[in-house]
Amino acid sequence: VTGRPSVVSPDVVVVGAGALGAATAWFATRAGLAVEVVERGQILSGTTSACEGNLLVSDKEAGPELDLALFSHRIWREDLGEHGHLWEYENKGGLVVSATQAGARGLAELTGRQRTAGIEVHDVAADHVHDYEPHLTPDLAGAAYYPQDSQVQPMLMAAHLLRMARTQGARVRTGTTVTGFLRDGDRVIGVRTDRGEFPAGQVVNAAGTWAGEVAALARVKVPVLPRRGFIMVTEPLPPTVRHKVYAGEYVASTQSSEEGLQTSTVIEGTRAGTILIGSSRERVGFDRTVSLPALREMARKALALYPSLAGVAVMRSYLGFRPYCPDHLPVIGHDPRAPGLWHAAGHEGAGIGLSVGTAKLLVQAMIGERPDLDLAPFAPERFSRTEA
Ligand SMILES: Cc1cc2nc3c(=O)[nH]c(=O)nc-3n(C[C@H](O)[C@H](O)[C@H](O)COP(=O)(O)OP(=O)(O)OC[C@H]3O[C@@H](n4cnc5c(N)ncnc54)[C@H](O)[C@@H]3O)c2cc1C
Repeated sequence: VTGRPSVVSPDVVVVGAGALGAATAWFATRAGLAVEVVERGQILSGTTSACEGNLLVSDKEAGPELDLALFSHRIWREDLGEHGHLWEYENKGGLVVSATQAGARGLAELTGRQRTAGIEVHDVAADHVHDYEPHLTPDLAGAAYYPQDSQVQPMLMAAHLLRMARTQGARVRTGTTVTGFLRDGDRVIGVRTDRGEFPAGQVVNAAGTWAGEVAALARVKVPVLPRRGFIMVTEPLPPTVRHKVYAGEYVASTQSSEEGLQTSTVIEGTRAGTILIGSSRERVGFDRTVSLPALREMARKALALYPSLAGVAVMRSYLGFRPYCPDHLPVIGHDPRAPGLWHAAGHEGAGIGLSVGTAKLLVQAMIGERPDLDLAPFAPERFSRTEA
């Protein structure tokens, strides 16, 4: 939807109509703020339409990201539970499996730490793994079951949140690229776009993997970088994968800063019957070339877990660019280096799961309430000021 600039300035301009922009728009309108979303492409033209919909607590170690994941888990259920059917919310639980005795010991140590940190997790002995997932390979040394892990369809979630925000009065302008900021001294008082100027009380940078470029327009440094990932989609099958299933090494790969190709198996069934097979991680800039080595490696590892997938056709694959910060933490909150500018970006491979918690906390801070969770670990000013 495009249109002329509003006569009355909104309270908030949100830059980007992905998961983070949509969730922010919804929580801001729900708090009574007048919201305008500005998106350079169509809605969901960034990473939100090129990912999976895992809402995981299981892949996180104790720390601020886990606190945000547990908070978001609550928001998905409590604040948004009545709408869950719109985006295929399923609290299906996650099963992390290990093929070796050493891996199973490592997994048991991880679950011990996670339990202390507040995650609900049950260790599963090798001879009980098939009670959870009958089609898994028999060659497994152990597993852990995480009842809090859930799933959504990310595009439905973001599109519905934007629609819900619009029914509360928000405006969504697509085809509108932010090219700069309106300033009053240091203060950000709106955005410049290729379609004119939009004054606003506050601006939220929810530009995903491009959030660093948007921040630079305000002369502040937010080092969000692309981390490429592929997903394969099988033909529709009778129920084969019941839970979120992934290999224990996935946890290490999410936290690694390796540039080279890393693959670790994450498998989920969808309501349509297709199976999503992920995923890879590589730092190759915004290169969109399809990598056969990455796809081959993912397929090989998926077959090792689910031998019954042999002979199943892969209908398509797609790729996306995770918005990655060097310290693996998102950037959430007000930016004192450019007063009036807020960020909700850099959630790497967890931006769908963390979107709703992030948006709720950001809006709480924006309207002067004390956020339910301390935002200090996510502070934008942890990155140094860019030389102007
Ligand atoms: C392969 C893969 C698998 C993943 N799996 C999961 C998963 O299972 N669970 C999970 O939680 N996360 C997952 N993720 C991560 C998740 O996709 C992202 O963290 C999330 O989508 C980021 O959402 P966003 O709103 O920040 O960014 P985006 O969806 O990229 O939205 C940003 C928007 O900003 C717009 N924009 C940029 N610059 C401008 C500008 N100057 N002016 C106006 N608009 C602008 C863009 O066009 C874009 O639409 C995965 C990612 C990948 C790649």
